[in-house]
Amino acid sequence: MVDFSRTRALFQIPSGVVYLDGNSLGPPLRDTAAKLGHVVDREWGGELIKAWNSCGWMAKPGRVGDRIARLIGAPEGSVVMGDTLSIKVFQAVAAGLAMRPERRVILSDTGNFPTDLYMVEGLIALKDRGYTLKTVEPQDVEAAIDDSVAVMMLTEVDYRTGRKHDMRRLTETAHAAGAVAVWDLAHSAGAIPVHLEQCRADFAVGCTYKYLNGGPGAPAFIYVRPDLADVAAAGLSGWQGHAAPFAFELNYRPARGSERMRVGTPPILGLAALEAALDVFESASMDELRARSIELTSLFIEEVERQAPQVELFSPRAADERGSQVSFRHPDAYAIMQALIAHGVIGDVRAPDVLRFGFAPLYVSLEDVRLAAAILADILRSDLWRDPKYSVRQAVT
Ligand SMILES: *Cc1c(COP(=O)(O)O)cnc(C)c1O
Repeated sequence: MVDFSRTRALFQIPSGVVYLDGNSLGPPLRDTAAKLGHVVDREWGGELIKAWNSCGWMAKPGRVGDRIARLIGAPEGSVVMGDTLSIKVFQAVAAGLAMRPERRVILSDTGNFPTDLYMVEGLIALKDRGYTLKTVEPQDVEAAIDDSVAVMMLTEVDYRTGRKHDMRRLTETAHAAGAVAVWDLAHSAGAIPVHLEQCRADFAVGCTYKYLNGGPGAPAFIYVRPDLADVAAAGLSGWQGHAAPFAFELNYRPARGSERMRVGTPPILGLAALEAALDVFESASMDELRARSIELTSLFIEEVERQAPQVELFSPRAADERGSQVSFRHPDAYAIMQALIAHGVIGDVRAPDVLRFGFAPLYVSLEDVRLAAAILADILRSDLWRDPKYSVRQAVT
């Protein structure tokens, strides 16, 4: 049994705050600052450039990747860190297209996060070979998979609704049609169990500042199925993905394995903060976290529906069809969320009308859930959100 009050105590969350936005930016661990300080003072400050060797900096993208791999059902050596998720999406899709040179369709869904779609649009323009990006409604993906599809690119958990795709089935269907399957795990990694190897996913990517608590702009990860890793094109041919970066050869030659997906110099400070955050995942299995997450999200739905009929559930009601977030709809979502935040409950909104709440099982308690639902109900009942100050728009929602 995991002691969730103990894992919660490891996080730095201001008192009086119910934090339900760890699906967008996870909080720091209490010892993240000290661990990061150590890297700045001792490694960077003490060793200077020698640290690339003496502190193992050059191997960090693979070593931290191995720790992520354990959380997403991937074998050692198959995951490497670097860049941000947008870049990794580009690389994975480019690699997938190179594996199916005779096909021209990239299939995705309308629930995908815009940057994934934008990156593909840019890739298509760059390649200039008649590719098309086809987006269908999430529930229509399976029927849209046919032998014109080169790459099926999906985000497992929808950022707005929390709806979860069936990775195993869709990957199987894609493979049966001869397509390459690319999965984005932005809202999966650290939140729900993922079985990349068992599902035979070809590529997977994800960020580490959401449920993995790596900090703002923390490095992304990319998974390449081991049997593809020595043949996959890297999509971006940077020197850190070269077979021999310090040979300074004039021509690009990809490294063996997933290392070829590296691009430039690794973000050592970002990786250090992420490593500090990953320690807490040693104390619970992803199955235990999933069970807790379902308990939290189910309770929230129950409490909100009982007390706040003004909002409408936008997430799947069936626990096994959603990730670790719950969304409700209301035409005045923005003002309601601002009022909630002013009363210590931090969630966020997604245009036009979605109130979004993330339930990170490591630090959100059942008490938090009850309190958040009660405050939301109170704000709705009292029309408190109608105060004009809650309608002032900020840049980041
Ligand atoms: C959060 C998120 C991103 C963000 O990409 P960055 O390059 O890290 O800004 C991309 N895709 C999905 C599906 C996301 O949820």
